[in-house]
Amino acid sequence: MSLAKLQTPIDYLKGVGPNRALLLRKEMDVHTYQDLLNLFPNRYLDRTTYHKIGQLQPTAADVQIIGKVVHLKMMGEKRGKRLVATFQDDTGSMDLVWFRGHKWIKDSLKINVPYVVFGKVQRFGGTYSIAHPDMELLSEHERSLRGAMQPVYPSTEKLAAKGITNKVINTMMQQLFHECGKQITESLSTHLLENLKLMPKAHAYFNIHFPQSQNDLARAQYRLKFEELFYIQLQLLIKNRLHKQKIKGYAFAEVGQHFSDFYENHLPFELTNAQKRVIREIRNDLGKPAQMNRLLQGDVGSGKTIVALMSMLLAIDNGFQACLMAPTEILSIQHYHGLVELCQETGIRIDLLTGSTKTAKRNAIHADLLNGNLDILIGTHALLEDKVQFNNLGLAVIDEQHRFGVEQRSKLWHKNELPPHVLIMSATPIPRTLAMSVYGDLDVSVIDELPPGRKDIKTVHRFDANRLKVFRFLRDEIKKGRQVYIVYPLIQESEALDYKDLMDGYESIAREFPQPEYQISIVHGKMKPADKDYEMERFVKGETQIMVATTVIEVGVNVPNASVMVIESAERFGLSQLHQLRGRVGRGAEQSYCILMTGHKLSEDSKTRLQTMTRTNDGFEIAEVDLKLRGPGDMMGTQQSGALHLKIADIVRDNDVMKIARGYASSILSDDPSLAKPENEVIRSTYQDLMKYKNIWNYIS
Ligand code: ADP
Ligand code: MG
Repeated sequence: MSLAKLQTPIDYLKGVGPNRALLLRKEMDVHTYQDLLNLFPNRYLDRTTYHKIGQLQPTAADVQIIGKVVHLKMMGEKRGKRLVATFQDDTGSMDLVWFRGHKWIKDSLKINVPYVVFGKVQRFGGTYSIAHPDMELLSEHERSLRGAMQPVYPSTEKLAAKGITNKVINTMMQQLFHECGKQITESLSTHLLENLKLMPKAHAYFNIHFPQSQNDLARAQYRLKFEELFYIQLQLLIKNRLHKQKIKGYAFAEVGQHFSDFYENHLPFELTNAQKRVIREIRNDLGKPAQMNRLLQGDVGSGKTIVALMSMLLAIDNGFQACLMAPTEILSIQHYHGLVELCQETGIRIDLLTGSTKTAKRNAIHADLLNGNLDILIGTHALLEDKVQFNNLGLAVIDEQHRFGVEQRSKLWHKNELPPHVLIMSATPIPRTLAMSVYGDLDVSVIDELPPGRKDIKTVHRFDANRLKVFRFLRDEIKKGRQVYIVYPLIQESEALDYKDLMDGYESIAREFPQPEYQISIVHGKMKPADKDYEMERFVKGETQIMVATTVIEVGVNVPNASVMVIESAERFGLSQLHQLRGRVGRGAEQSYCILMTGHKLSEDSKTRLQTMTRTNDGFEIAEVDLKLRGPGDMMGTQQSGALHLKIADIVRDNDVMKIARGYASSILSDDPSLAKPENEVIRSTYQDLMKYKNIWNYIS
């Protein structure tokens, strides 16, 4: 069917009418024929077997029974009110029960006429019953297009209450196919169909709704998933290309003296292969006259800083300045010290600007920046103030992107004629395929290898009841000269409570670890920044052995001598947070430990999180589990979750299909960028229709 016909409002389908159409629109977001066609079943039920009432077992499985309703009555009161039908076959009788939608059922249910009834059986006091059964007149059942596998469509309480049951949806679907099933036209090229041995489109739609066999169903699903993912990937790749064409940037043509000198004479260690590869990727981008927008992902400790520095050296070699922006003052200061140390013999001029930089110093920085006496400026949000004017900013590095919104990023752009290149560093590993499908305009580089000699952090789960043992362990570690973090959850909604937990915890730790033998730092959100920094400093310098903190230390803090991370109420943390926190230790040569403390009552998800943490140190593996637990929407934050409302494919489970789809989309585009070749005509027109009718997901713009 042509797309125009597909766009016919659902009201016009025979058997729908204005009331049902209204419900379908409101409840299922089904507005047109095409939307209905794309309402895919959640699952399929086996309808090959029929059961007899007399032989029912008290199991919870779905059963299918042929029989007649002989009697109908209301029972119970108020919330327990229900409509009960006595249902019989030649072997016995049972109950069918409805708690909602009574009127509709009373009006439409036929007495003493054979029905096929389907649902989950339960047994109450010797009587079997099915609540809200799926029912169909036997005569209709025999006429229907259905094969052995019965589709189960997504539904809502409202739909069910208004009588739009699974069966009704199924009937609509039959009507849809009667009206225009033969006109469903192909939307993938012959080349793709043949190469991947895909089922033709019309055939696939038919089998999704009326599967003729397991095998046909599997092939239909594959075909439709492929198509969905193919057009998403195509859209992303096209956007990416457009972005590269449109946004010009400074080409850093030179790999000059600073870069080479640093590489040959000042590298404090041998780069890992992953670091080398990533630097090559960045260098390649920077050499082109298009703005770089690259996400650099690497687990905590994977060595992103040196990559950032070397990228900045490329900017400097080409006569530009660079900046490095971090989300907190502490982190900016650490970056500043780190980079100053790395660059001490290079003549590169670096400065630091934060909220607490004194006015005189601030003015000096402004002047140096403007007249080009400064090569690298490091800082917090303070870098975004209007007064901060670069002479010529060529590269902006942003550490820990999650804390910076898109607006803030674009603010940096407005300081120049052309936008600076942007490198965003993130220690939150996003599964590669997810990143690939969410960040349309962002290229992704991954450091997937830790520097050599890192010891895995030993992670254990301990119950609160074993706290004394844990304290003993901490004392032993401190005796060896190590430092310890003890972290408490901070969840916005219950800030007061969290604060109380933290303070209670602090007091009990102060009792267990008395002065003067032990010194304790405490850092939390209610403190003034200056006090926080003071306490952090004491810990960094080794004046305190224990740091009691809320999650403020999550981001980036580097204290190599700290070797134990105790996480209190670990069940309240998400996986990525746990992983981030754990990454604060294991930075020195010593064996490090992470101790996850919890109460005894744990949800299944909490258990999975704890088990994952004790099993692996691999951030990407953890991210995969996180993705499965939370789903892509939550994981990426609400702002991007809309991007992932796929109709049939699942970004996690259909990962492999996505890779194949991306591969094909990419090779088709590089061979035929504007899809002008005759063999790609069908792809071009389908893509245009998808864009026109907004049936393709809107990715972050
Ligand atoms: P992150 O990716 O978490 O920002 P950093 O850049 O802070 O990691 O690096 C973590 C630590 O590892 C630093 O102390 C750094 O000097 C060190 N490091 C980075 N790369 C290497 C390497 N190739 N070999 C040895 N040590 C390295
Ligand atoms: Mg870092």
